[in-house]
Amino acid sequence: MFIELIDVLRCPNAHEESWLVLASRRIDGRDVMEGVLGCPVCAAEFPITEGVVRFGNGSRSGTAGPLANEEDALRLAALLDLASPGGYAMITGSLGKDAPHLAALTDVQLLLVNPPPGIGMGTGLSGFTINPNWTTLPLAPSSSRAIALDDTTTPDQLLAALDVVRPSGRVLAPVALSVPDGVAELARDGRQWLAERRATPRASGIIPLERRK
Ligand SMILES: [Zn+2]
Repeated sequence: MFIELIDVLRCPNAHEESWLVLASRRIDGRDVMEGVLGCPVCAAEFPITEGVVRFGNGSRSGTAGPLANEEDALRLAALLDLASPGGYAMITGSLGKDAPHLAALTDVQLLLVNPPPGIGMGTGLSGFTINPNWTTLPLAPSSSRAIALDDTTTPDQLLAALDVVRPSGRVLAPVALSVPDGVAELARDGRQWLAERRATPRASGIIPLERRK
């Protein structure tokens, strides 16, 4: 976990939004490889092992995912608009397979949710595990410049992930999901649609101006 990304992590437990306090045991450059994150509100502790924050058991059963592919990484860099430096992009599940190639193409920190097995953390790659049935993300609202959601994403997860994207941030999602309110579709192909989060928050209608008398 890149040390600066710890600022955007939030306790996943049901209480008011709270940041987490780091007790590090091993830092490699600016990446925390071993340690513990503690919540000052509920005292929950989340271990960091091999650079991955363990919010929950993120292991998936089943077959290994597709192999990493440089062309997929190049496509992801373009779609997520990762040419300019700064901030972080969130990538879920099996899409994390291309993260090592992607990290070579961008200076943007990549935050992998339930990273695929064998993907090492550090030098541009951070990750956390979470129950695959998550309905909220342990991340600050409007903190991410882009998100890429894998094929297992549910409609509820899409909405929860949108809250994490900052206005004008990119959203890449599987075509099985419909494009929700609050984002403007930019493009689509047979696999995914690409959209941009609108500047106004989701589900807020147009507020009429009141005429003063
Ligand atoms: Zn807590």
